[in-house]
Amino acid sequence: MTISGSIKAAKEALEVIPGGVNSPVRAFRSVGGDPIFFDRGKGSRLWDIDGNEYVDYVGSWGPAILGHAHPEVVDAVKKALDKGFSFGAPTVGETTLVRKVQEFFPSMEKIRLVSSGTEACMSVLRVARAFTKRDKILKFTGCYHGHADMLLVKAGSGALTLGLPDSPGVPADATKHTLLGQYNDVEGLKTVFSEHPDQIAAIILEPIVGNAGFIRPSKDFLKAMETLCKKHGTLLVFDEVMTGFRVATGGAQQLFGMKPDLTTLGKVIGGGMPIGAYGGRRDVMAMVAPEGPVYQAGTLSGNPVAVACGLKTLEILQRKGVFGALTEKTKMLMDGLVKIAKAANIPLVADCEGGMFGFFFSDTPVTCLEDAKKTDVTRFNKFFHEMLNKGFYLAPSAYEAGFVSTEHTADDIKNTLAAAEKIFLSWK
Ligand code: PLP
Repeated sequence: MTISGSIKAAKEALEVIPGGVNSPVRAFRSVGGDPIFFDRGKGSRLWDIDGNEYVDYVGSWGPAILGHAHPEVVDAVKKALDKGFSFGAPTVGETTLVRKVQEFFPSMEKIRLVSSGTEACMSVLRVARAFTKRDKILKFTGCYHGHADMLLVKAGSGALTLGLPDSPGVPADATKHTLLGQYNDVEGLKTVFSEHPDQIAAIILEPIVGNAGFIRPSKDFLKAMETLCKKHGTLLVFDEVMTGFRVATGGAQQLFGMKPDLTTLGKVIGGGMPIGAYGGRRDVMAMVAPEGPVYQAGTLSGNPVAVACGLKTLEILQRKGVFGALTEKTKMLMDGLVKIAKAANIPLVADCEGGMFGFFFSDTPVTCLEDAKKTDVTRFNKFFHEMLNKGFYLAPSAYEAGFVSTEHTADDIKNTLAAAEKIFLSWK
């Protein structure tokens, strides 16, 4: 496979765009090598600018749940485009989309549309702080909630600790109210509440982690969180930017039978166009301007073209059998991967839910970022490049979840497994 076009494009981009990319992980820094520049996508496939074809398991990092350029979604977007791109004024489509989202997420009694997951998380915490009249928030190492200053906090090494900025340019003052916990650490959770009783405005978490690989919460962890939040008047925020419409149509909260106070959404809600959303309890959302005093705004919020794209995507996802088939294919992929790794004597753990999956080269289960860091990343990077070379595009990092779309066929999955098996056997 030749990627000379991509290599040339990367060189040109490097001259005018920091790192040659508009979001860091696209640069392949964690796996090494040259990033691929894509030209187009259709269904489960992507084609790069050199004409190479790939089965895509990144799906634009989650949004492409219906694959690329689904004909019905393309139609809906074209219709919206013909009417004009943006008015900066209310449109009926926004209410229709919000009502549609509520069919999936009944806990979101009122919803505000924004343009990205970052904006959703940043805004929801402003509202939570205003509602509770408290400053502190608690997040977990390995959970990513966008790049707002207060959330860009270094992963602690086990113990619960006050946050330190993760990036130059973030003042220590901006993160001084951010507390850090370890995912799945029930005792740690109790400790942080006992050290900061009635001071924590909100807990924000990825209810299944996708930004440190695929990590599932334990029942005890979720239960403890719910109980402690109730006891201390802390709001529970599920960041379902990745898990929303993904691990179940109604997200992780449906899967776990939970009702968080507030929820953030992104990715699938826009079907590949820029939309984010936050919402939840009516009394809390009443704080948002102009209904309440908490300012939050956006020139392109509720953009009509993006709304049309998201709405059609959600309508299709709701059709009978669509999500079940997606779940089955994802399970087939992960079950198959575990089986062939075992046969080749390669330590591998894998998990999935709905259309989201993850695997680690490890012989022990991974329950938090700290575990994920101990897995064999060198082996992942080798696997990533060998799969890429065979035309299978996985996330270019050992610490990212993968995504299957409704358009992946059983043959796509079989071919993927056959390629992985060849690689595993060649390592023997
Ligand atoms: N929250 C989660 C769980 C995410 O995975 C992401 C992005 O990957 C974000 C928030 C930020 O969303 P965005 O990249 O749309 O700003």
